[in-house]
Amino acid sequence: MSNQLDVLVVGAGVAGLATAVALEREGMSVDVVERSSESRSGGAGLFLPGNSVRALTALGVGGHLGESGAPVLGQRLMDQRGRVLADIDMAELWRGTAGCVGITRGDLHAALQDIVPVPVRHGVTVDSLEHADDGMHDDGVHVTFSDGGIGRYDVVVGADGIRSHVRQWVDPTAGARYLGQVCWRFLTDAPDIDRWSVWLGPGTAFLAYPVGGGRVCCYADVTTSSPEAAPPAAVLTGLFAGFDERVRALLDTPAAREAYFSPVEEVGGETWAHERVVLVGDAAHASSPNMAQGVAMAVEDATVLAESLAAGGDTEDLLRRFVQRRLPRTRWVQRQTHRRDRTRSMPTALRNVMFRYGAGALYERGYAPLRDLP
Ligand SMILES: Cc1cc2nc3c(=O)[nH]c(=O)nc-3n(C[C@H](O)[C@H](O)[C@H](O)COP(=O)(O)OP(=O)(O)OC[C@H]3O[C@@H](n4cnc5c(N)ncnc54)[C@H](O)[C@@H]3O)c2cc1C
Repeated sequence: MSNQLDVLVVGAGVAGLATAVALEREGMSVDVVERSSESRSGGAGLFLPGNSVRALTALGVGGHLGESGAPVLGQRLMDQRGRVLADIDMAELWRGTAGCVGITRGDLHAALQDIVPVPVRHGVTVDSLEHADDGMHDDGVHVTFSDGGIGRYDVVVGADGIRSHVRQWVDPTAGARYLGQVCWRFLTDAPDIDRWSVWLGPGTAFLAYPVGGGRVCCYADVTTSSPEAAPPAAVLTGLFAGFDERVRALLDTPAAREAYFSPVEEVGGETWAHERVVLVGDAAHASSPNMAQGVAMAVEDATVLAESLAAGGDTEDLLRRFVQRRLPRTRWVQRQTHRRDRTRSMPTALRNVMFRYGAGALYERGYAPLRDLP
């Protein structure tokens, strides 16, 4: 007999939708609220490494990834002129997990929405959360919603992203930290790009990977002291003027001028649960996208949280155990992203030599623990 809890999930991104699916499978009753008035998923594409595809397949969207996304068999590292530094074989790197996939955010979101067990209440957020525990009787969390409604839940899950509102009830000192880079993302047609490909310049990188239907997701980043000092998308072509012709052609497409802009940030707090409120996904541990582990960590959070709560017992203890189980793995990912970021400030020639002779070992070391089940 599973532990039947009433759970509120705040936020219907990847983390929130995956959490709703995983909890419902464990026999829990779930409500989902989402601040935006409609379902949307801006920000171009997602590269999903083997552990990500494994977690999404276990959740039930493996077929959809195969139909809408594109298999990504290799990663190619190049210098800015397009000279190959290293080729990484994804099947070898992710052995024992699943094949890597590139997909648009819209397609992944649609796949998760198809399997989410309850209608998402759009245009609604939480105004207040109060743990009703008088020492004699624990009545769970009393919630007031922005539309005037109220509710009582055994657990509230904050899956509301990097600028989480729920985080103030868990760890008001934690917040997003700027990592010294800004990035632009866009989707365009480029059927000839059949693998994850990166061109590395001094303090800049441009990457492209297939996302299905002959399209690619392009990502350009630049090191800058603050997001306010970032150049506008219109000057991207100038910034990458010394790059390979293929990069310049991709930046010359109309989609590049409408690129989605964001600073690169992380959330580093270690307190993800307080009383009966818990954080998952980016709200708990957003990290630089340079390891492409955001979706994997969010979906793994969802399944481990559902498993932890289903075990039964004192709810606050179960949430603490969930955090203990997830912290080492998400911290590992963040440490690897920091390590990768440090290569950006190396002299270009030295970095190129390092990748030419050591990229395989660096990839193996960075990703190996993530092949294990969470
Ligand atoms: C530039 C960039 C590139 C990336 N590339 C990759 C990649 O290639 N592969 C990969 O795996 N990951 C990538 N990531 C990370 C990935 O996007 C996230 O880690 C992943 O989507 C998990 O997000 P989430 O659901 O936790 O948060 P979000 O996607 O931010 O979802 C949060 C949801 O909560 C809603 N919300 C916010 N506030 C409230 C509120 N107060 N009340 C109710 N709802 C609210 C939002 O509207 C949103 O729907 C990238 C990230 C960035 C920034």
